[in-house]
Amino acid sequence: MTSRREFLCHTGGIVAAGSVLGAGAANAQTPVADDVDTIPHRHYLLTDVRLESGFIHEDGVVAGTETTLHTLEIEDGRIVAILDAPSGTLPRYSAQGMLALPPMRDMHIHLDKTFYGGPWQAPLPRKGKTIMDMIAREEVLLPQLLPTSQDRAEALIALLLAHGTTMARSHCNIDPVSGLQSLEHLNLALAARRDDFDCEIVAFPQHGLLHSKVDGLMRESMDLGVTHVGGLDPTNVDGAMEASLDAMFQIALDHDKGVDIHNHESSPAGIAALRYMVAAVEANAPLRDRVTFSHAFALARMDEGELAELATRMADQGISVASSVPIGRGVMPLQAMRDKGVTIMAGTDSVIDHWSPFGSGDMVDKANLYAQLYAGSDEASLSRSLWIATGDVLPLDDDGNRAWPKVGDAAGFVLAEASCSAEAVARCSPRRATFHKGRLVSGRVGA
Ligand SMILES: [Zn+2]
Repeated sequence: MTSRREFLCHTGGIVAAGSVLGAGAANAQTPVADDVDTIPHRHYLLTDVRLESGFIHEDGVVAGTETTLHTLEIEDGRIVAILDAPSGTLPRYSAQGMLALPPMRDMHIHLDKTFYGGPWQAPLPRKGKTIMDMIAREEVLLPQLLPTSQDRAEALIALLLAHGTTMARSHCNIDPVSGLQSLEHLNLALAARRDDFDCEIVAFPQHGLLHSKVDGLMRESMDLGVTHVGGLDPTNVDGAMEASLDAMFQIALDHDKGVDIHNHESSPAGIAALRYMVAAVEANAPLRDRVTFSHAFALARMDEGELAELATRMADQGISVASSVPIGRGVMPLQAMRDKGVTIMAGTDSVIDHWSPFGSGDMVDKANLYAQLYAGSDEASLSRSLWIATGDVLPLDDDGNRAWPKVGDAAGFVLAEASCSAEAVARCSPRRATFHKGRLVSGRVGA
């Protein structure tokens, strides 16, 4: 509580100095004696919610962000009113002056085979190891992980919720070692948080669709909550680019699913695979708007003209890209693709596993990384960088008009200890409470 009170004092100071806040401002300084981790009501008020209201310009540039305090009236999972001040007799809870940010979307993660929630374990040295060596390593590890994989997935989901992520797309191993068990455990973990967390599942043939001969297992998995057919490096792992991709698309077409393929290949083979897949979607209308290229490092190896041509075709077919915003692998042309109309998504990928020990499970970290690598450090660039964490939802539009939240929106948001989006992105500010469909699903608010 001490740090929260200090924060409230701090924001109170900003109110006095800036005089930019609305009628609810005085409430931000009201100490709150109790807080709660559950809201049992389906119709209630959440007071003292800080919302962005505009940009402050100096010398023709964005120099700051204005905010105002509001009360959200929430009913049956929706925001039914945005009020300047609370009134009436509905039950009241307080956001205590915290900044509301749109809910985070983690669109590439592996919930099924994480070390998270267990003892510390660093990956083995990677130097000189190929992806085939890593697959051999998995064959040893998976039987060790399976007995606790449901508990670990639940712990990782709780971590995501604490950071404000309420929507994810998880890849899930379908391989000869774990069979369908990874998927069964993931489904149990998701069922435990069904009302708190939405998740798509990609059946992921991590050991190679052809290489590990899992076509049959993949097809079996299609009835077990799977939304997308996965794939993996068709040249480097399966050794047969066209046959591998054809097999992947055929499963998706036969079972009416989307596709989300890991493609780490940055060689000319990677470019050839992306081109082959774009042509496949162009030739198969049911795949339109349903295919995602995960990582797609080959995009960073294409020249400007080649990239523009492929990006235009991808946008026409609704092919999206899911990136972990990598460092040290060349410049991913995320903004250039987005400018061409390609939907760009991001994910935390490995939080801690035998591939990487560095993940935080926090999409705001990804927005921070995006700003550092690609956008910039000024107020506007930081503020705009949040799009990669929220699936393109930003509190303000580029002109500084409030774009989110709106009356009628789903009551999903995260409350951050920050004065504005730019600060939240730059400082990865702490998140204090996460709401999903009108329910408090993580953290605490004032009672
Ligand atoms: Zn992945």
